[in-house]
Amino acid sequence: MAGSEAAWQAAQMGVSVVLHEMRPQVGTFAHQTGDFGEMVCSNSFRSDDDEQNAVGLLHWEMRAANGLIMEMADKHRLPAGGALAVDRDAFSQSITERLRSHPNITTKEGEVAALPEDGNWIFATGPLTSATLGQAIGKVTGAESLAFFDAIAPIIYFDSIDMSRAWMQSRYDKGETQEERTAYLNCPMDKEQYEAFIDALLTADKTEFHEGETATYFDGCLPIEVMAERGRETLRFGPMKPVGLTNAHQPDVKPYAVVQLRRDNALGTLYNIVGFQTKMKYGAQTEVLRMIPGLENASFARLGGIHRNTFLNSPTLLDSQMRLRSHPHIRFAGQITGVEGYVESAAMGLLAGRLAAAELLGQPLQDPPQDSAMGALIYHISGGAEAKTFQPMNVNFGLFRPVDGLKGGRKGRKDRYKAYTDRAKSAWTDWLSETNLDAG
Ligand SMILES: Cc1cc2nc3c(=O)[nH]c(=O)nc-3n(C[C@H](O)[C@H](O)[C@H](O)COP(=O)(O)OP(=O)(O)OC[C@H]3O[C@@H](n4cnc5c(N)ncnc54)[C@H](O)[C@@H]3O)c2cc1C
Repeated sequence: MAGSEAAWQAAQMGVSVVLHEMRPQVGTFAHQTGDFGEMVCSNSFRSDDDEQNAVGLLHWEMRAANGLIMEMADKHRLPAGGALAVDRDAFSQSITERLRSHPNITTKEGEVAALPEDGNWIFATGPLTSATLGQAIGKVTGAESLAFFDAIAPIIYFDSIDMSRAWMQSRYDKGETQEERTAYLNCPMDKEQYEAFIDALLTADKTEFHEGETATYFDGCLPIEVMAERGRETLRFGPMKPVGLTNAHQPDVKPYAVVQLRRDNALGTLYNIVGFQTKMKYGAQTEVLRMIPGLENASFARLGGIHRNTFLNSPTLLDSQMRLRSHPHIRFAGQITGVEGYVESAAMGLLAGRLAAAELLGQPLQDPPQDSAMGALIYHISGGAEAKTFQPMNVNFGLFRPVDGLKGGRKGRKDRYKAYTDRAKSAWTDWLSETNLDAG
């Protein structure tokens, strides 16, 4: 994500770029192709609401900066209520074609195993940075890399789902078109089925951590069995919440819990279970997930898994232009800087590409404005966050400076978010126009 966007932005600004990619020569456990911009798990870029949602605002800012990732996401969009979901194969293939055919970009296959002594570099090697490079980075930064775990949500073949039990509906029938309003596939549970499901989750065989790994989860991506361990009702108030949905087969019976699946490809042949990251062992996983009404005969295109995430202690290592303080010819971008998610990673790539290109062109840019979503994120990772407890961060309004004169608390939330997003758009537009180097 970040490397593709960084290369695109710098190339559009007239700088010659060499884009290195180790796949397919050297793989990772999660990537399956050699394409750029591969989405390794969910096919969602989350909310596309640029007035009330921070990630939607980040979409807006990236579109305003002619971002390649957003252009291709829009082009290969799938119906998903208020979310921006994409056809993952068409998305990454079109990114690959665009980058490979750009006159200012040369692509080079193979692993980069060290941090180079000279030149101008952006390292956007992601949460699954190759082991050799990870060690090399550790040596240069002198700081310990941190690690935490995400878990992959399972993907199911549509034709194995029992539609006499499941039904299609977006929560609160959200969406402009009929397709949007029926973007999710829902599986209902009564109380007895829910309790049995929780029991099975709690006793299922799970993957153990390897020696030296720290079992610290990022709260936004908790495995379902960990949520169940936190309390029997946690899932019913999280990914299994039954609100805003009416069972089409039994409209009078309110489901006790609902499991939602979202379309995973344009053909509509694959569905992923929303929010169902898991580290259950494969055998246990199929057994437990088939307890869900409608999924009794589910066949799985991909089972869930657990993975390591490599990221820097950016508040101590990076400056506000994403340069390694000790080696300023090297920038970092993407998830390795301690942001979390496809969108945030691509956003950091966009900034790194622009900042690096402008510096090379002899017209260094001002730091991105802190009131924009981009600026709020970069401010957080490059010094705003507490270094001692630094953990990967999704973009959220908590990173924004308060707007004077607005009410706090839940009541004033709508007005507050609108004020944040209005202010951000204006700050971002100003920054883009002041650069005079606008990519595009
Ligand atoms: C298993 C898994 C599931 C995830 N699920 C989600 C999700 O559902 N939603 C979400 O928003 N985010 C998810 N994430 C986070 C996701 O990885 C990031 O959001 C995003 O892909 C990171 O973008 P990036 O550009 O930083 O890294 P990547 O997109 O991973 O890109 C890094 C690239 O660098 C290459 N590379 C690595 N080391 C080297 C080297 N030494 N030399 C040359 N090339 C190298 C890799 O092959 C890769 O192509 C998940 C991450 C993982 C690992």
